[in-house]
Amino acid sequence: ASWERQVRQSSTAHRPGGMSVLVTGAAGFVGTHCSLALKKRGDGVLGLDNFNAYYDPSLKRGRQVLLSKSGVFVVEGDINDAALLAKLFDVVPFTHVLHLAAQAGVRYAMRNPQSYIQSNIAGFVTLLEAAAKRADPQPAIVWASSSSVYGLNEANPFSESHRTDRPASLYAATKKAGEEIAHVYNHIYGLSLTGLRFFTVYGPWGRPDMAYFFFTKDILQGKQITVFKPADGEREVARDFTFIDDVVKGCLGALDTAEKSTGMPGGGKKRGPAQLRVYNLGNTSPVPVSRLVAILESLLGVKAKKNIVRMPANGDVPYTHANVSLAHGDFGYQPTTDLATGLRKFVKWYVDYHGIKIPVSSATTASSSSSSSS
Ligand code: NAD
Repeated sequence: ASWERQVRQSSTAHRPGGMSVLVTGAAGFVGTHCSLALKKRGDGVLGLDNFNAYYDPSLKRGRQVLLSKSGVFVVEGDINDAALLAKLFDVVPFTHVLHLAAQAGVRYAMRNPQSYIQSNIAGFVTLLEAAAKRADPQPAIVWASSSSVYGLNEANPFSESHRTDRPASLYAATKKAGEEIAHVYNHIYGLSLTGLRFFTVYGPWGRPDMAYFFFTKDILQGKQITVFKPADGEREVARDFTFIDDVVKGCLGALDTAEKSTGMPGGGKKRGPAQLRVYNLGNTSPVPVSRLVAILESLLGVKAKKNIVRMPANGDVPYTHANVSLAHGDFGYQPTTDLATGLRKFVKWYVDYHGIKIPVSSATTASSSSSSSS
């Protein structure tokens, strides 16, 4: 009963017309920031996360503490647990689902391929089945796809209409599969679905398996970092790094413009074409990895020991660059944080979190430092 009370309390909106959102992967990096932002503006938010040990679970527990302080309750469970999902939907008439739970990262697939199938394909289907069974309301779903679906695409920048048939990793393939599966659930059950292709999201409380995070750690510890250079004749390895606050605004914009689902066939309601959308959420400004390292060196006041090697076929793609005009047109998405500014916020959080006492130098110094420090 107290569990149910917590679930209800957390999911109750505190503004007129507020949404009630189930956020899967709420103890994750993006999930935590989105949950806090939704709660702050008065929406009801319930988290769901299995707290898996893909990376340091204490970081997920730390985020959970933040969430709990803001009144967001996180149910500990798996998106593959159909009975749990049914129970949650019975207790709360969610208007929206923000589905962020997934097996992220590309290199880990070489060690645990099944985890990608389990969470990104089977888990997504379990969630869609649960949502499709609800009639009143049938929740609108916004879910995380990925820029990795563009794979070895050579376009510059990537637009949503570009080819996504050459994934470079199992992760990318499962995210692409998610987009195809979404089409089916939209077509058959009239579910309202919005996919967001995130581009290398970074920031405070970020993921330790991502380069900006472990570069910071290793540079501070005086360890050598491995920096990839392109194969002959290819572009410099670069990423369209996108600051978390910009991505959060994009997620909220997508939720705000998500139309209600049209409902199941035979549900007594007239069915119309339900919404099915996919958007890039990037920063529109790819930055070479050498420049990322130079900014970190400048912020940390430490020179990195670099081991520069040719990029192996390990699932990474050489280049990403988002065209965001679709998201801009439909919900005003407009990234505003450059990498030096965002990394400064990350590094400040990082040293604080780890109790490291170093002065973080200013982003202006970082911006003016050379990009060709290798
Ligand atoms: P994250 O790993 O920090 O968050 C995912 C959360 O989901 C974790 O807390 C994990 O415990 C949880 N989870 C995983 N499998 C689950 C399951 N089966 N049941 C319940 N919970 C489960 O990753 P993130 O960076 O916050 O990413 C959020 C989403 O955005 C993911 O779908 C990811 O694939 C996608 N994405 C992220 C980036 C990025 O740069 N961060 C880029 C593209 C796409």
